[in-house]
Amino acid sequence: MNHYHTPPLPGLIVSRWQINPQWTLFLDRDGVINQNLKTQYVRSVEQFAFIEQVPDVIKQLRRYFCRILVVTNQQGIGKGLMTDEDLYAIFRYIQTATDDSIDGFFFCPHLAQVRCLCRKPNIGMALQARIQFPGIDLRQAIMVGDSATDIAFGKKLGMKTVFVTNNEPLLPKQIPPADLVCANLPEFATIFWNSLPA
Ligand SMILES: [Mg+2]
Repeated sequence: MNHYHTPPLPGLIVSRWQINPQWTLFLDRDGVINQNLKTQYVRSVEQFAFIEQVPDVIKQLRRYFCRILVVTNQQGIGKGLMTDEDLYAIFRYIQTATDDSIDGFFFCPHLAQVRCLCRKPNIGMALQARIQFPGIDLRQAIMVGDSATDIAFGKKLGMKTVFVTNNEPLLPKQIPPADLVCANLPEFATIFWNSLPA
């Protein structure tokens, strides 16, 4: 018998969270789907680089989840650095690479100082999503993001939250109180598939 203390296995999330195929998967964009450029906005397809394996992972996850929605703050639009059309071109690029696996894209174009209702951590984009997809139960949803505002957004709505670190060396205080912390979306997907009942 093993007397070592081991932390709860992340592999149990499906039963612990009671996930079923009616659930919705919400994804942040920059830092979850594509590389976060940090010092500048991703304004064009040329600047957009998928995180490795993510297109395939999204296609696979879509076979389980009822819908996959992207919720993204894009204040580069509010700053006049890019247009809605530039953003739509990137969304189309994501759809092409994922065989149209994303059911909806929601974005906030406003400047942070505008104090709109849609900029995460405010919940406006989830409310828009619920109007467009009336079947959504926001408590049967998972939010995956790489920033504290993503986690705060999910928690306000009663979602399960997944924080991705992109393998950056973060201090404990830099890791928001998410339900699960993992390296990236492919690692989340592995944990998820491994926890599905046989
Ligand atoms: Mg992000």
